Amino acid sequence: MSDAFGDVDTIWMDGEFVDWDDAQIHVLTHGLHYGTGIFEGVRCYDTENGPAIFRWEEHLDRFYESAKPYDMEIGFSREELTEATETLIREQNLDSCYIRPIAFYGYDSLGVSPGDCPTEVAIACWPWGTYLGEDALENGVEVMVSSWRKHASSQIPTNAKTTGLYVNSMLAGEEARRNGFVEAIVLNKEGDVAEGPGENLFLVRDDELYTPGLSESILDGITRQTVIDIAEDLGYTVHDDATISRGELNTADELFFTGTAAEVTPIRKVDNVEIGSGTRGPVTEEIQQEFFDIVERRTDKYDEWFDYV
Ligand code: PMP
Repeated sequence: MSDAFGDVDTIWMDGEFVDWDDAQIHVLTHGLHYGTGIFEGVRCYDTENGPAIFRWEEHLDRFYESAKPYDMEIGFSREELTEATETLIREQNLDSCYIRPIAFYGYDSLGVSPGDCPTEVAIACWPWGTYLGEDALENGVEVMVSSWRKHASSQIPTNAKTTGLYVNSMLAGEEARRNGFVEAIVLNKEGDVAEGPGENLFLVRDDELYTPGLSESILDGITRQTVIDIAEDLGYTVHDDATISRGELNTADELFFTGTAAEVTPIRKVDNVEIGSGTRGPVTEEIQQEFFDIVERRTDKYDEWFDYV
C-alpha cells in the first residue's frame, strides 16, 4: 500500500468493506476514460466528544446533487453512506481524518454514453493534516493568477463536484507550483475572479467581505457558506454575490481561501504583489480563529454542523 495514506487498511466499496489493497476497478472503467465520476472531500475533526464529521449532511446533499446532471443513480441511501463512513472511522481508530466518497460510471462498455455501466460507489478515510503547508495558516500563501481559465457552467456544470473537472484544477495548480507559488487563482471566462483550484476565495475591503457569486463559475463550497455564516454572526457584512475583477485582488485589504482541505488560509501575495500588509490580516485572523474554535469544538456554537461518530 502507498505510504501517503498512513495507518488505514479498509475501504468501503459498493456495500462491502474490503482490504485497502483489494479496492480495485477494471482498466476499462467508464469514469477513468471520460471523467464521469462525482466525489466529496469531507473533514472529520478530533473533538472532546470523539471524532466529529464537519457538515456531513451538506456534503451528502452535494454528493447526490452532483450526480444529477450525469443521470447517475447512487444506489445507496444517505443512511447507508453514513453508516459505512462511521464504521470506517471507528474500526480504523481514526480521530481526525479526511473522508473521500466517490461515485462513478463503472465497467460495462466504453462508448461515451454510459449505457449499462453500473454506478460504483466507494468511501475511503485517512489521516490528513494541513493542505497548503504548515505555516500557510499563520503566514499566508503566495499565489499566482493562472493563465488557465475556469470553464463556464454552460460548458460543464460548475456546481457539481465532478472528477473530470479537476484537470482544470490540476493544470492551474501545477502551473503555479512550477513558477514557485503555492497555489493559483483561476479567473472565469469573463476574466473575473472565480476561485482557487480547490478553494473558494474571499476579499476584504473596508471591513466588509466579498466572495464571487454562484454564477461566477465556482463550486458552491461548504466552507464558503460556513465562513459567510460565521462572518455575519461576527457582525460583518458579506457580499456573497460579488463580481471581483482581477485588479481588485491587488488593491484588497485582505484575501483568503476557504475549503475543506485549505480550511481558512490567508493569501499574502498575488503575482508577487503584497496584499495589504503582506501578512495575515486582522479580519482573516478573527474569522480563522472562530473557524478553528468551532471545528475543534472549543465553543458550543453551531453544534448542528457536527455528526459525532
Ligand atoms: N472550489 C473547488 C474547485 C474545490 O475543489 C473546492 C473543494 N471541494 C472548493 C471550491 C471548496 O469547497 P468546500 O468548502 O466544499 O470544500
